[in-house]
Parts: sequence; structure tokens; C-alpha cells
Amino acid sequence: MTSEAVRITYLLNSGFVVEDGASRWALIFDAYRDVRGDIERVLASVKDVYFFVSHAHFDHFSPSIARYAKASRFFLSEDIRALSEAARFPTEKTVWFRKYDGWENEKLRVESFDSTDEGTSFLVETDGWRIFHAGDFNWWHWSGDTPENISFARNGFFKQMKWLDGKMFDFAFFPADGRLEEARDWGAKEFCRRTDTRALVTMHSVGYPRFEPDGKFFEPSREIPVWSPTEPGERRIYQKGSGFSE
Ligand SMILES: [Zn+2]
Repeated sequence: MTSEAVRITYLLNSGFVVEDGASRWALIFDAYRDVRGDIERVLASVKDVYFFVSHAHFDHFSPSIARYAKASRFFLSEDIRALSEAARFPTEKTVWFRKYDGWENEKLRVESFDSTDEGTSFLVETDGWRIFHAGDFNWWHWSGDTPENISFARNGFFKQMKWLDGKMFDFAFFPADGRLEEARDWGAKEFCRRTDTRALVTMHSVGYPRFEPDGKFFEPSREIPVWSPTEPGERRIYQKGSGFSE
């Protein structure tokens, strides 16, 4: 692999590892479980390893990641700070993120956006890559909910989408949650329509069948590669401007 390609490994739920081809850096998102030992492997072989946690919910955050002494940095959403486990993270390596925060050094630039649930979503720029991880940002349309809640969810989503309009991402992680039934892909579909996302990785759908975009998911001539992992340890190489391969 060259720096024009990354390897993406699915951990579980919204958890992923993104590694560059030369083992110089890895980004680890929302790693609440590591059933296959992918984090240990990366920490043993990759030079700079950055952890990102979008919010404190149990299916995104495990305080046990604080034990990885070889981590370069932990980028954690501010709501985690209120937990007693926050004290386990080394102060000098931990960066707390509110919505619309930013942080950068010579290797990495991180920007946060709002979520429609707890915490933040992240844009990470490194080594010529622009990678978006939505966290629990989504159009959470629960069909059995009250009209008030349904319109609240819709409004929150569309309000936040304005911040993302037109932005380019080499690839993006975005929920396609099976629990939302017919609304499973509404958020991801709108996200792809409104941003210049070059490839999509869907997430946050444990226990549901693999998401397959239907014929109406993409606007005409705006199709992009989609990968929807279901099994922990599934991985793909993503070649920039091309697609996912095994
Ligand atoms: Zn969640």
C-alpha cells in the first residue's frame, strides 16, 4: 500500500481502525470493543496511533482504552469528561472536544461538529486524507415516535447538515441503523447528497443485515463506493479516488 491507500478494519458498531500503508499512523474511532485484537496489533506496529471517541455511550466508549500507553493522543468528546473514568486518561495526551472545536499539530488536524445525539462528530485530516466520522450524528427518525419528536429529530439533523454542506471527505463513516427500518438510510442518503463524500462506510447497525444502497440512494451519476461491514475484523483497502478492495 502507498499513502494513497488505507486499510480500514471494522471493530464493532461505530468502531473502526484506519491505518496508512506504511504503518506511520492509525486512527481509531469509537473503539468500545476489540474482539480480534486489532488495537493491540496496531499499537505494536504503527508509529502514531490516535484515538477518537465521539461520545460517552457504552456502545462507543470504553474507558479501558486509557490503558494503551503507546497511544499518541486521545481525542475525546467533552461529555466523557464528566465520568469518573476520565481521570484514567493521561492529561498530557488527552484533548477534550466540544462541538465546533479544532486542534492541530504538524501531522494532524482535527475538527468537531455537532451530533444529533450526545457528543460530537469528527473531521480528521492527516497525510493528505480527509476522513469524517459521524459518531451518533444521524437523522434519527423513529417511525413510532410522537410527531414532536419526529420533527425535532428531522430539524436537528437538517440544521447540522448546513455545517457540512459541500465539504469534501475522502471517505466518511455514517450510521445506517437497521432499527430505523424504512428510515435506515435517510440520514446517510442526505449526507451523501449534501457533501462531496468520495466513499461511504456505514455503521451503527449491529445484528442487522448488511446495508445495501437501493437504486434511489444516490443521485444520478453521483454513485460512490459503499462498504457496510457486519463482522468484527472485516477489513478493506481503500484506494483514494477508487474503491474498496479486500
Ligand atoms: Zn450510538
